[in-house]
Formats: sequence, C-alpha cells, structure tokens
Amino acid sequence: MVEPVGVYISVPFCKAKCTFCNFASGVFGAERMQQYVERLGGEIRRAHVAAETIGAALPKAVDTIYFGGGTPSLLSAQQFRLIFQELRGEFDLAADAEITLECAPGQLADETLDELLHQGMNRISFGVQSFIDQEAAAVGRLHTREQCEAEIARVRSAGVREINVDLIAGLPHQTEHSWRYSVEQAIASGVSHISVYLLEVDEDSRLGRELLEQGSRYGAAAVPDEDCVAEWYQQACDLLGEAGVQQYEISNFARPGHLSRHNLKYWRRQPYVGFGLDAHSMLLADEGAVRFANTSDLDRYLGQESLPNPLRVLEFERDATDGEVDIVGRSEAFEESLLLGLRLNEGVDLSVLRGQFGESLLQDAMPALVEVRDAGLLELSTERIRLTPKGRLVSNEVFSRLLIPSAA
Ligand code: SF4
Repeated sequence: MVEPVGVYISVPFCKAKCTFCNFASGVFGAERMQQYVERLGGEIRRAHVAAETIGAALPKAVDTIYFGGGTPSLLSAQQFRLIFQELRGEFDLAADAEITLECAPGQLADETLDELLHQGMNRISFGVQSFIDQEAAAVGRLHTREQCEAEIARVRSAGVREINVDLIAGLPHQTEHSWRYSVEQAIASGVSHISVYLLEVDEDSRLGRELLEQGSRYGAAAVPDEDCVAEWYQQACDLLGEAGVQQYEISNFARPGHLSRHNLKYWRRQPYVGFGLDAHSMLLADEGAVRFANTSDLDRYLGQESLPNPLRVLEFERDATDGEVDIVGRSEAFEESLLLGLRLNEGVDLSVLRGQFGESLLQDAMPALVEVRDAGLLELSTERIRLTPKGRLVSNEVFSRLLIPSAA
C-alpha cells in the first residue's frame, strides 16, 4: 500500500516581525496576501504534474496537513476555502487527517475559525513563547498572558481538542523563575502538546544584529546566558514529565496519544510535500528519495504564475538555491534516518535500519557511535540507539560528530 503523504502549506505573513526572526516572512497588505493564495492554489493544482516531471512519487492520499508560517491564521475564511478546494481537487484527504494551524494568540477571526473547523482543521499550535507579558513584548509578540489563556479556552470550546503551545527558553529578560512560571502555566492550561525551543537568534534579525553590535534597543543585553538556558531546558523536561506531558522529541512533549502526526513524518523520514514560499519537500523516487524546496523570495515566487511550461515551472519553482532537485543517495538516506530518528526519544530501531540499508553502512558509522556513547551522550544496545538526556541537550554537537564524510 502506498504511504499517504503529509502536506505543508507555508503562509509567510505576520502582523509584526519578531525581533529574533529572519524567516521568509513579513508584514504585507491584503492585496499581496490574496495574490499569494491564488499563486498557492496554482501550485497545488500542478503538484502531480510537477512531481512526475522530476520522477518523484507524489501519493494522492493525504493524512496530515500543516499550515505553518508566518502566521497562517491571518488568512481569511474565503482564502482558506479556496486552498482547501484546491487541496481536495488534487489530493484525497483522509477522513481522520490531522490538520494543524499555526496561530498567534489573538490573530484568528471567528469567521476563519468557523471555516477551518468546517474544513476539518482539528489542531492548533499557538506561538505563545512566554506567559510573561514583558518577555513576549520584548521580542515583538503582540499578545498578553490573559489573551493566550482566553484564546486556548475559545478554540477549545469551539471543539479543537489538539492544542499545542510553543515556548522559548532564553528570551531577553527571562529568569529561572519566570521560565518556570511559563512552563507551569502551559501545563496548567491543560493543552495536549507543548513545544520547548531554545532561543535561536538569526544573525540577520534585529536582535541578532544588536547582539553582534552590543546595542540595547531589542534587549540584547538582557538575553540570558547559554548555560542557564540549558539548565532551564532540563528543568522544563523534568516539570513536563512529572505532569504527564512526555517528551518524545528534542523539542516536543505531549500527553499520551497526542503526538504531532505531521511532525513525526519529518523525523521518521516519511514523505511530505510543501507548497508556498520556502516550502520544502521530500518524496520517494526510483533512486530512493528526492528533496526540493521553493524559493524564499516572495517576488520571485509570485512572479512564477506566468510560466506555463511545467519544465520551466520546475526550474524556477523547485529550486531554492539556484541548484537542482537534490537526489538523496543511499548513504545520505542512511544518515538522514539515523540523525532524524535520534531526535526522537524512542531513538532508532537498528533492525529497521539494517533492513533498509544493510549492515555495512551501520558498521561504518559504529566507531563514531561508540565514541559518542563513551562520552555519555548516547545509549547503544544491540537493538536500538537513542540519545541520553545529556545528548539531547547538545544534540547538534552529537549530530555533527555522527556525520558520515561521504554523505555530507
Ligand atoms: S517568529 Fe513567527 S510570528 Fe514572529 S516574525 Fe517570525 S514567523 Fe512571524
């Protein structure tokens, strides 16, 4: 049976730009948003033709959809209606598909919520970041703690059972005490899923530039020390675990039975297709798998509507870096399976890895795995490998030590 595909839809619009963020997102007017939705519709409509042109298998069956951004909740009811119309025209949506909307608290109109519920949306992810108003405001978030709580209650009473709250450790002005408060508030809200990220400041964001130049406008001087933030992350893991919100991935925690089905596809290396600005895809192909990405330049993305030839569309659309579609070779696929799987607490089942790739690639990786195990960062048994709590804290270091030179 062909495995259903996950669909990611990028909506790169925000009401205000957060100080630490340099994603391909921005503040745009209504006209641009409408243009974008129409362009998105065209891209979805051509999805199977484009996939066929590059020899990628794009299943018709879809069992997860994720609207990410940006702030997708800013789109209107009518715009969502159009997107779903295109999706249903091109794909077969499973009756129990997980459909997630990323949302900034206070930025989801009643009419849009009603339309999304009608379309089957059943999961909302709120970008709360902090339940302390000063901390949220310092990075440019427009909501208060009260608003976040009211929003969670509102969507819950509208029938949304799967709710995620994003938190960020390491925000300007954050302290051990205030961080603990945010984690406790997230737990007390009763949401089914909580994501905990460590602040990553893009060098080209306003806060990033200020950190480099040691300025003071965006709170660079009030960014907590990295070692403290690492401790706070561990503290969050403990608090969430005690509350029954179990960690299942480096940054993700869920009550039993409420894991994000869409995001699990990324870590389990299952196929997904992305539409919209800077959206990435990974699909199976004869050679194994192909990866491709859309441009991150909005003007360029919007301008592609006028290119009628599928090959030209492919050339421009499926090309974030002026390169080609990336064919994932066997050793690269092995490395991806290993590193993505290690992000999960369940780790990697070695018999599955052997079944997919044979013994030799695993044996090649063994010296590095043993070295990382000896450093206390990895548990390695005959059946399974998984990161230790210490390994999860320094996962990027672990992954770079496990990189296979021939696959890099
Ligand atoms: S962090 Fe999210 S909400 Fe803030 S500017 Fe970036 S994409 Fe928009």
